[in-house]
Amino acid sequence: MAIDFTLSDTQKALQSGARTFGADVLRRVGPTIAKIAEPDRRFYAIRPFYEAMVEAGFVKALLPEEFGGTNVSTLDFAIAAEELAAVDINTPTALLGTGLGLQPLLRFGTPEQKQRFLPDFAEDGSRLAALAFTEVTGGSNYNCPDPSAGVQTFAHRDGDSWVITGKKHYTTNGSGWDGSGAHLYSVVCRTDPTLPPNESLAVILVPGDAPGIEVAGILDTMGHRATNSPRMHFNGVRVPASNIIGKPGEGAKIVETAFSWTAALIGSACVGVMRTAFDVALQFAKTDKRSGSVPVIEYQNVGYMLADIKMKIEAARYLTWKACHQFDHSGTKSQELAIITKVYASELCVQAVYDAMRLVGIDSYTDMFPLAGLLQDAICFPLYDGGNMGVRRRQLHTLFRSSGYDPMESAEARG
Ligand SMILES: Cc1cc2nc3c(=O)[nH]c(=O)nc-3n(C[C@H](O)[C@H](O)[C@H](O)COP(=O)(O)OP(=O)(O)OC[C@H]3O[C@@H](n4cnc5c(N)ncnc54)[C@H](O)[C@@H]3O)c2cc1C
Repeated sequence: MAIDFTLSDTQKALQSGARTFGADVLRRVGPTIAKIAEPDRRFYAIRPFYEAMVEAGFVKALLPEEFGGTNVSTLDFAIAAEELAAVDINTPTALLGTGLGLQPLLRFGTPEQKQRFLPDFAEDGSRLAALAFTEVTGGSNYNCPDPSAGVQTFAHRDGDSWVITGKKHYTTNGSGWDGSGAHLYSVVCRTDPTLPPNESLAVILVPGDAPGIEVAGILDTMGHRATNSPRMHFNGVRVPASNIIGKPGEGAKIVETAFSWTAALIGSACVGVMRTAFDVALQFAKTDKRSGSVPVIEYQNVGYMLADIKMKIEAARYLTWKACHQFDHSGTKSQELAIITKVYASELCVQAVYDAMRLVGIDSYTDMFPLAGLLQDAICFPLYDGGNMGVRRRQLHTLFRSSGYDPMESAEARG
Protein backbone atom coordinates (compact mmCIF):
# COMPACT_ATOMS: atom_id res chain seq x y z
CA MET A 1 0.00 0.00 0.00
CA ALA A 2 1.07 3.57 -0.60
CA ILE A 3 2.13 5.73 2.33
CA ASP A 4 -1.06 6.56 4.18
CA PHE A 5 -1.39 8.61 7.34
CA THR A 6 -5.14 8.01 7.61
CA LEU A 7 -5.97 6.74 11.08
CA SER A 8 -7.90 3.48 11.29
CA ASP A 9 -11.29 3.47 13.00
CA THR A 10 -9.66 1.95 16.08
CA GLN A 11 -7.02 4.67 16.13
CA LYS A 12 -9.64 7.38 15.70
CA ALA A 13 -11.58 5.93 18.63
CA LEU A 14 -8.41 5.80 20.73
CA GLN A 15 -7.61 9.40 19.84
CA SER A 16 -11.05 10.73 20.60
CA GLY A 17 -11.28 8.67 23.81
CA ALA A 18 -7.95 10.10 24.99
CA ARG A 19 -9.05 13.61 24.00
CA THR A 20 -12.23 13.27 26.01
CA PHE A 21 -10.30 11.83 28.94
CA GLY A 22 -7.97 14.81 28.84
CA ALA A 23 -10.84 17.29 28.74
CA ASP A 24 -12.92 15.56 31.42
CA VAL A 25 -10.29 14.27 33.83
CA LEU A 26 -6.74 15.51 33.29
CA ARG A 27 -7.72 19.17 33.02
CA ARG A 28 -8.21 19.06 36.82
CA VAL A 29 -4.58 18.07 37.52
CA GLY A 30 -3.16 21.59 37.11
CA PRO A 31 -5.50 23.25 39.62
CA THR A 32 -5.08 20.31 42.01
CA ILE A 33 -1.30 20.56 42.24
CA ALA A 34 -0.92 24.34 41.82
CA LYS A 35 -0.88 25.26 45.48
CA ILE A 36 1.05 22.27 46.83
CA ALA A 37 4.55 23.30 47.83
CA GLU A 38 6.16 19.91 48.53
CA PRO A 39 7.22 17.86 45.49
CA ASP A 40 6.33 14.51 47.08
CA ARG A 41 2.82 15.69 47.95
CA ARG A 42 2.31 17.04 44.44
CA PHE A 43 3.05 13.57 43.10
CA TYR A 44 0.79 11.85 45.63
CA ALA A 45 -2.00 14.26 44.60
CA ILE A 46 -2.08 12.92 41.04
CA ARG A 47 -2.86 9.38 42.23
CA PRO A 48 -6.64 9.67 41.61
CA PHE A 49 -5.92 10.86 38.08
CA TYR A 50 -3.51 8.00 37.52
CA GLU A 51 -6.13 5.58 38.82
CA ALA A 52 -8.62 7.04 36.36
CA MET A 53 -6.06 6.38 33.62
CA VAL A 54 -5.75 2.80 34.85
CA GLU A 55 -9.54 2.50 34.76
CA ALA A 56 -9.55 3.83 31.21
CA GLY A 57 -7.15 1.05 30.17
CA PHE A 58 -3.87 2.94 29.76
CA VAL A 59 -1.81 0.56 31.93
CA LYS A 60 -3.29 -2.57 30.37
CA ALA A 61 -2.25 -1.08 27.03
CA LEU A 62 1.37 -1.67 28.09
CA LEU A 63 0.91 -5.36 28.87
CA PRO A 64 0.82 -8.39 26.56
CA GLU A 65 -2.54 -10.07 26.09
CA GLU A 66 -1.47 -13.29 27.85
CA PHE A 67 -0.98 -11.25 31.02
CA GLY A 68 -4.31 -9.47 30.88
CA GLY A 69 -3.17 -6.56 28.74
CA THR A 70 -4.21 -5.12 25.40
CA ASN A 71 -0.66 -4.81 24.00
CA VAL A 72 -1.16 -1.48 22.27
CA SER A 73 1.51 -0.65 19.68
CA THR A 74 3.97 2.18 20.26
CA LEU A 75 2.31 4.09 17.41
CA ASP A 76 -1.17 3.80 18.93
CA PHE A 77 0.24 4.75 22.31
CA ALA A 78 1.71 7.88 20.73
CA ILE A 79 -1.64 8.86 19.20
CA ALA A 80 -3.25 8.69 22.63
CA ALA A 81 -0.27 10.24 24.46
CA GLU A 82 -0.42 13.42 22.37
CA GLU A 83 -3.98 13.99 23.55
CA LEU A 84 -3.07 13.45 27.21
CA ALA A 85 0.09 15.57 27.14
CA ALA A 86 -1.79 18.44 25.54
CA VAL A 87 -3.66 18.76 28.85
CA ASP A 88 -1.32 17.50 31.58
CA ILE A 89 2.26 16.28 31.43
CA ASN A 90 2.54 14.75 34.89
CA THR A 91 0.04 11.90 34.93
CA PRO A 92 1.13 10.59 31.51
CA THR A 93 4.75 10.84 32.67
CA ALA A 94 3.97 8.56 35.61
CA LEU A 95 2.54 6.12 33.06
CA LEU A 96 5.63 6.54 30.90
CA GLY A 97 7.76 5.88 34.01
CA THR A 98 5.95 2.63 34.65
CA GLY A 99 6.26 1.70 30.98
CA LEU A 100 9.98 2.50 31.10
CA GLY A 101 10.40 0.44 34.24
CA LEU A 102 8.67 -2.51 32.59
CA GLN A 103 10.40 -2.28 29.20
CA PRO A 104 13.40 -4.48 30.17
CA LEU A 105 11.00 -7.18 31.37
CA LEU A 106 8.59 -6.79 28.46
CA ARG A 107 11.28 -6.77 25.76
CA PHE A 108 13.96 -9.05 27.22
CA GLY A 109 12.41 -10.96 30.14
CA THR A 110 11.98 -14.74 30.10
CA PRO A 111 8.45 -16.23 30.14
CA GLU A 112 9.09 -17.21 33.77
CA GLN A 113 10.08 -13.65 34.73
CA LYS A 114 7.05 -12.21 32.95
CA GLN A 115 4.80 -14.70 34.71
CA ARG A 116 6.30 -13.72 38.05
CA PHE A 117 6.05 -9.93 37.69
CA LEU A 118 3.50 -8.84 35.07
CA PRO A 119 0.20 -10.18 36.48
CA ASP A 120 0.54 -7.79 39.45
CA PHE A 121 0.24 -4.87 37.04
CA ALA A 122 -2.79 -6.33 35.30
CA GLU A 123 -4.45 -7.02 38.66
CA ASP A 124 -3.83 -3.53 40.07
CA GLY A 125 -2.66 -1.05 37.45
CA SER A 126 -2.04 1.67 40.02
CA ARG A 127 1.10 -0.22 41.04
CA LEU A 128 4.14 1.68 39.85
CA ALA A 129 7.29 0.46 38.13
CA ALA A 130 10.50 2.45 37.79
CA LEU A 131 13.76 2.28 35.88
CA ALA A 132 16.62 3.09 38.27
CA PHE A 133 19.25 4.11 35.73
CA THR A 134 20.65 7.58 36.42
CA GLU A 135 23.51 7.57 38.89
CA VAL A 136 23.90 10.45 41.35
CA THR A 137 27.20 11.14 39.55
CA GLY A 138 25.47 11.46 36.13
CA GLY A 139 23.88 9.29 33.51
CA SER A 140 25.68 10.16 30.27
CA ASN A 141 28.70 7.93 30.69
CA TYR A 142 26.93 4.80 31.89
CA ASN A 143 28.68 2.76 29.21
CA CYS A 144 32.16 4.27 29.68
CA PRO A 145 34.63 1.46 28.86
CA ASP A 146 36.87 2.40 31.81
CA PRO A 147 35.77 -0.02 34.56
CA SER A 148 36.66 2.51 37.27
CA ALA A 149 34.09 4.96 35.78
CA GLY A 150 30.49 4.55 34.55
CA VAL A 151 27.75 2.94 36.61
CA GLN A 152 28.75 2.66 40.25
CA THR A 153 25.76 0.66 41.44
CA PHE A 154 27.04 -2.87 41.85
CA ALA A 155 25.37 -6.24 42.21
CA HIS A 156 27.53 -8.95 43.69
CA ARG A 157 26.63 -12.58 43.51
CA ASP A 158 26.10 -14.29 46.86
CA GLY A 159 24.94 -17.88 46.44
CA ASP A 160 21.54 -17.79 44.78
CA SER A 161 21.18 -14.05 45.19
CA TRP A 162 22.31 -10.73 43.78
CA VAL A 163 23.07 -8.14 46.44
CA ILE A 164 22.73 -4.62 45.05
CA THR A 165 24.28 -1.45 46.45
CA GLY A 166 24.27 2.00 44.88
CA LYS A 167 22.70 5.44 44.66
CA LYS A 168 20.36 6.63 41.92
CA HIS A 169 18.26 9.71 41.37
CA TYR A 170 15.47 10.89 39.07
CA THR A 171 13.99 7.39 39.35
CA THR A 172 10.52 8.40 38.11
CA ASN A 173 7.82 6.79 40.31
CA GLY A 174 10.54 5.51 42.67
CA SER A 175 8.96 6.81 45.87
CA GLY A 176 5.66 5.05 45.16
CA TRP A 177 2.36 6.71 46.01
CA ASP A 178 3.16 7.20 49.69
CA GLY A 179 6.94 7.30 50.03
CA SER A 180 7.25 3.59 50.75
CA GLY A 181 8.58 2.74 47.28
CA ALA A 182 7.43 1.58 43.86
CA HIS A 183 6.11 -1.92 43.26
CA LEU A 184 8.97 -2.96 40.98
CA TYR A 185 12.33 -1.50 39.98
CA SER A 186 14.53 -2.37 37.03
CA VAL A 187 17.93 -1.49 38.47
CA VAL A 188 20.79 -0.75 36.12
CA CYS A 189 23.98 -1.95 37.75
CA ARG A 190 27.30 -3.69 37.12
CA THR A 191 28.04 -7.20 38.27
CA ASP A 192 31.82 -6.72 38.54
CA PRO A 193 33.71 -3.49 39.30
CA THR A 194 36.80 -4.73 37.46
CA LEU A 195 35.01 -5.40 34.17
CA PRO A 196 33.88 -2.89 31.51
CA PRO A 197 30.15 -2.46 30.80
CA ASN A 198 30.13 -4.81 27.82
CA GLU A 199 30.95 -7.59 30.29
CA SER A 200 29.32 -6.31 33.46
CA LEU A 201 26.39 -3.92 32.80
CA ALA A 202 23.11 -5.55 33.79
CA VAL A 203 19.48 -4.89 34.57
CA ILE A 204 18.09 -6.66 37.62
CA LEU A 205 14.45 -6.74 38.72
CA VAL A 206 13.97 -5.62 42.30
CA PRO A 207 10.55 -5.98 43.97
CA GLY A 208 9.64 -2.88 45.93
CA ASP A 209 9.28 -4.79 49.21
CA ALA A 210 12.89 -6.04 49.20
CA PRO A 211 14.68 -4.85 52.38
CA GLY A 212 17.32 -2.16 51.89
CA ILE A 213 15.49 0.12 49.45
CA GLU A 214 15.50 3.69 50.71
CA VAL A 215 13.73 6.75 49.35
CA ALA A 216 16.47 9.17 50.34
CA GLY A 217 14.82 12.39 49.19
CA ILE A 218 12.75 14.02 46.47
CA LEU A 219 14.15 16.48 43.96
CA ASP A 220 12.11 19.60 43.22
CA THR A 221 11.98 20.30 39.48
CA MET A 222 11.13 23.56 37.68
CA GLY A 223 8.62 21.85 35.39
CA HIS A 224 6.92 18.45 35.41
CA ARG A 225 5.93 19.68 38.86
CA ALA A 226 4.04 16.56 39.89
CA THR A 227 6.43 14.08 38.34
CA ASN A 228 8.24 12.07 40.96
CA SER A 229 12.04 12.54 40.89
CA PRO A 230 13.36 10.75 43.98
CA ARG A 231 16.82 9.88 45.18
CA MET A 232 16.90 6.13 45.63
CA HIS A 233 19.48 4.25 47.66
CA PHE A 234 19.88 0.50 47.28
CA ASN A 235 21.59 -0.62 50.46
CA GLY A 236 22.62 -4.26 50.10
CA VAL A 237 19.28 -5.19 48.50
CA ARG A 238 19.08 -8.97 48.07
CA VAL A 239 17.06 -10.51 45.24
CA PRO A 240 17.02 -13.99 43.67
CA ALA A 241 19.75 -14.63 41.08
CA SER A 242 16.99 -15.38 38.57
CA ASN A 243 15.92 -11.70 38.63
CA ILE A 244 18.61 -10.68 36.18
CA ILE A 245 17.32 -9.81 32.71
CA GLY A 246 19.53 -11.47 30.14
CA LYS A 247 23.20 -11.76 31.07
CA PRO A 248 25.82 -9.40 32.52
CA GLY A 249 27.13 -7.35 29.60
CA GLU A 250 23.71 -7.08 27.94
CA GLY A 251 22.69 -4.05 30.00
CA ALA A 252 23.46 -1.42 27.35
CA LYS A 253 21.28 -3.10 24.75
CA ILE A 254 18.42 -3.46 27.24
CA VAL A 255 18.69 0.12 28.51
CA GLU A 256 18.96 1.59 25.02
CA THR A 257 15.90 -0.32 23.82
CA ALA A 258 13.90 0.82 26.85
CA PHE A 259 14.95 4.43 26.24
CA SER A 260 14.14 4.14 22.52
CA TRP A 261 10.56 3.30 23.40
CA THR A 262 10.33 6.43 25.56
CA ALA A 263 12.27 8.48 22.98
CA ALA A 264 9.68 7.81 20.30
CA LEU A 265 6.80 8.54 22.67
CA ILE A 266 8.34 11.75 23.99
CA GLY A 267 7.87 13.07 20.47
CA SER A 268 4.12 12.86 21.06
CA ALA A 269 4.41 14.60 24.44
CA CYS A 270 6.28 17.42 22.70
CA VAL A 271 3.56 17.65 20.06
CA GLY A 272 0.88 17.78 22.76
CA VAL A 273 2.63 20.64 24.57
CA MET A 274 3.28 22.56 21.33
CA ARG A 275 -0.34 22.11 20.34
CA THR A 276 -1.57 23.72 23.51
CA ALA A 277 0.89 26.60 23.13
CA PHE A 278 -0.32 27.13 19.55
CA ASP A 279 -3.99 27.09 20.59
CA VAL A 280 -3.32 29.70 23.26
CA ALA A 281 -1.35 31.90 20.86
CA LEU A 282 -3.94 31.58 18.10
CA GLN A 283 -6.80 32.41 20.40
CA PHE A 284 -4.92 35.43 21.69
CA ALA A 285 -4.00 36.57 18.18
CA LYS A 286 -7.57 36.36 16.92
CA THR A 287 -9.22 38.05 19.86
CA ASP A 288 -6.80 40.55 21.41
CA LYS A 289 -6.08 43.99 19.96
CA ARG A 290 -3.51 45.07 22.56
CA SER A 291 -4.92 48.61 22.56
CA GLY A 292 -4.67 48.73 18.77
CA SER A 293 -7.58 48.85 16.37
CA VAL A 294 -7.43 45.27 15.05
CA PRO A 295 -6.76 41.82 16.51
CA VAL A 296 -3.01 41.22 16.44
CA ILE A 297 -3.37 38.36 13.94
CA GLU A 298 -3.75 41.11 11.33
CA TYR A 299 -0.06 41.96 11.77
CA GLN A 300 2.18 40.00 9.45
CA ASN A 301 4.79 39.14 12.09
CA VAL A 302 2.11 37.49 14.23
CA GLY A 303 0.85 35.43 11.30
CA TYR A 304 4.39 34.35 10.40
CA MET A 305 5.10 33.37 13.98
CA LEU A 306 1.96 31.23 14.09
CA ALA A 307 3.03 29.61 10.82
CA ASP A 308 6.44 28.73 12.27
CA ILE A 309 4.87 27.12 15.35
CA LYS A 310 2.36 25.15 13.28
CA MET A 311 5.10 23.83 10.96
CA LYS A 312 7.00 22.53 13.98
CA ILE A 313 3.92 20.75 15.32
CA GLU A 314 3.09 19.02 12.05
CA ALA A 315 6.72 18.01 11.36
CA ALA A 316 7.17 16.61 14.87
CA ARG A 317 3.89 14.69 14.78
CA TYR A 318 4.60 12.78 11.58
CA LEU A 319 8.20 12.12 12.54
CA THR A 320 6.92 10.71 15.82
CA TRP A 321 4.43 8.45 14.06
CA LYS A 322 7.08 7.21 11.65
CA ALA A 323 9.55 6.60 14.51
CA CYS A 324 6.96 4.63 16.49
CA HIS A 325 6.00 2.63 13.41
CA GLN A 326 9.64 1.86 12.63
CA PHE A 327 10.35 0.85 16.25
CA ASP A 328 7.41 -1.57 16.23
CA HIS A 329 7.89 -2.74 12.66
CA SER A 330 11.55 -3.65 13.23
CA GLY A 331 10.77 -5.48 16.46
CA THR A 332 12.56 -2.66 18.41
CA LYS A 333 15.84 -3.17 16.50
CA SER A 334 15.74 0.01 14.44
CA GLN A 335 16.15 2.86 16.92
CA GLU A 336 17.60 5.69 14.85
CA LEU A 337 14.31 7.47 14.21
CA ALA A 338 13.25 7.18 17.84
CA ILE A 339 16.42 8.95 18.92
CA ILE A 340 16.10 11.57 16.17
CA THR A 341 12.50 12.18 17.24
CA LYS A 342 13.48 12.68 20.86
CA VAL A 343 16.20 15.20 20.02
CA TYR A 344 14.37 17.03 17.24
CA ALA A 345 10.87 17.23 18.72
CA SER A 346 12.14 18.25 22.15
CA GLU A 347 14.16 21.14 20.76
CA LEU A 348 11.30 22.20 18.49
CA CYS A 349 8.99 22.15 21.48
CA VAL A 350 11.08 24.54 23.56
CA GLN A 351 11.34 26.90 20.60
CA ALA A 352 7.62 26.67 19.79
CA VAL A 353 6.52 27.47 23.34
CA TYR A 354 8.99 30.35 23.48
CA ASP A 355 7.66 31.62 20.13
CA ALA A 356 4.11 31.45 21.50
CA MET A 357 5.27 33.50 24.48
CA ARG A 358 6.93 36.08 22.23
CA LEU A 359 3.72 36.34 20.26
CA VAL A 360 1.55 36.88 23.33
CA GLY A 361 4.10 39.17 24.90
CA ILE A 362 4.69 40.04 28.52
CA ASP A 363 1.38 38.69 29.80
CA SER A 364 2.58 35.23 28.80
CA TYR A 365 5.13 35.53 31.58
CA THR A 366 2.38 35.73 34.20
CA ASP A 367 -0.34 33.48 35.48
CA MET A 368 -2.77 35.09 33.04
CA PHE A 369 -1.65 32.49 30.50
CA PRO A 370 -0.51 28.87 30.81
CA LEU A 371 2.54 29.45 28.59
CA ALA A 372 5.18 30.03 31.25
CA GLY A 373 4.17 26.73 32.87
CA LEU A 374 4.33 25.00 29.49
CA LEU A 375 7.83 26.35 28.95
CA GLN A 376 8.86 24.95 32.34
CA ASP A 377 7.53 21.56 31.25
CA ALA A 378 9.02 21.81 27.76
CA ILE A 379 12.55 22.56 28.91
CA CYS A 380 12.65 19.13 30.49
CA PHE A 381 12.25 17.38 27.12
CA PRO A 382 15.76 18.05 25.72
CA LEU A 383 17.34 17.46 29.15
CA TYR A 384 15.78 14.21 30.35
CA ASP A 385 15.43 10.69 28.97
CA GLY A 386 19.11 10.71 28.09
CA GLY A 387 19.92 14.40 27.59
CA ASN A 388 20.25 15.56 23.97
CA MET A 389 23.82 16.72 24.64
CA GLY A 390 25.40 13.93 26.64
CA VAL A 391 23.48 10.88 25.42
CA ARG A 392 21.20 11.22 22.41
CA ARG A 393 23.43 12.92 19.85
CA ARG A 394 26.19 10.59 21.00
CA GLN A 395 23.98 7.58 20.25
CA LEU A 396 23.46 8.87 16.71
CA HIS A 397 27.19 9.58 16.35
CA THR A 398 27.95 6.00 17.40
CA LEU A 399 25.39 4.66 14.95
CA PHE A 400 26.82 6.70 12.07
CA ARG A 401 30.36 5.52 12.91
CA SER A 402 29.37 1.85 12.91
CA SER A 403 30.56 -0.10 9.87
CA GLY A 404 27.17 -1.53 8.94
CA TYR A 405 25.28 1.77 9.15
CA ASP A 406 22.65 2.05 6.45
CA PRO A 407 21.38 5.65 6.06
CA MET A 408 18.23 4.47 4.22
CA GLU A 409 17.21 1.75 6.67
CA SER A 410 14.72 3.94 8.55
CA ALA A 411 13.37 5.65 5.45
CA GLU A 412 12.70 2.34 3.79
CA ALA A 413 11.31 0.77 6.97
CA ARG A 414 13.93 -1.96 6.99
CA GLY A 415 15.67 -3.32 10.07
C1 LIG B 1 11.31 14.37 34.77
C2 LIG B 1 12.50 13.45 34.68
C3 LIG B 1 12.30 12.09 34.60
C4 LIG B 1 13.40 11.22 34.57
N1 LIG B 1 13.16 9.87 34.62
C5 LIG B 1 14.19 9.04 34.82
C6 LIG B 1 13.95 7.66 35.11
O1 LIG B 1 12.81 7.20 35.16
N2 LIG B 1 15.02 6.87 35.37
C7 LIG B 1 16.29 7.35 35.32
O2 LIG B 1 17.20 6.58 35.59
N3 LIG B 1 16.56 8.65 35.01
C8 LIG B 1 15.54 9.50 34.78
N4 LIG B 1 15.80 10.84 34.53
C9 LIG B 1 17.18 11.29 34.29
C10 LIG B 1 17.46 11.49 32.77
O3 LIG B 1 17.10 10.39 32.01
C11 LIG B 1 18.92 11.89 32.43
O4 LIG B 1 18.80 12.77 31.35
C12 LIG B 1 19.83 10.82 31.93
O5 LIG B 1 20.15 9.96 32.96
C13 LIG B 1 21.10 11.40 31.28
O6 LIG B 1 22.00 11.84 32.21
P1 LIG B 1 22.19 13.36 32.55
O7 LIG B 1 21.29 14.17 31.71
O8 LIG B 1 22.08 13.39 34.02
O9 LIG B 1 23.64 13.62 32.01
P2 LIG B 1 24.93 13.90 32.87
O10 LIG B 1 25.70 12.65 32.95
O11 LIG B 1 24.59 14.62 34.13
O12 LIG B 1 25.69 14.89 31.90
C14 LIG B 1 25.51 16.32 32.01
C15 LIG B 1 26.12 17.02 30.82
O13 LIG B 1 27.52 16.76 30.71
C16 LIG B 1 27.92 16.71 29.34
N5 LIG B 1 28.47 15.36 29.06
C17 LIG B 1 28.69 14.38 29.97
N6 LIG B 1 29.24 13.32 29.40
C18 LIG B 1 29.33 13.58 28.09
C19 LIG B 1 29.81 12.85 26.98
N7 LIG B 1 30.32 11.62 27.09
N8 LIG B 1 29.74 13.41 25.74
C20 LIG B 1 29.25 14.66 25.59
N9 LIG B 1 28.80 15.41 26.63
C21 LIG B 1 28.84 14.89 27.86
C22 LIG B 1 26.66 17.02 28.52
O14 LIG B 1 26.61 18.39 28.23
C23 LIG B 1 25.54 16.61 29.47
O15 LIG B 1 24.33 17.29 29.19
C24 LIG B 1 14.72 11.74 34.56
C25 LIG B 1 14.92 13.11 34.61
C26 LIG B 1 13.83 13.97 34.69
C27 LIG B 1 14.07 15.44 34.81
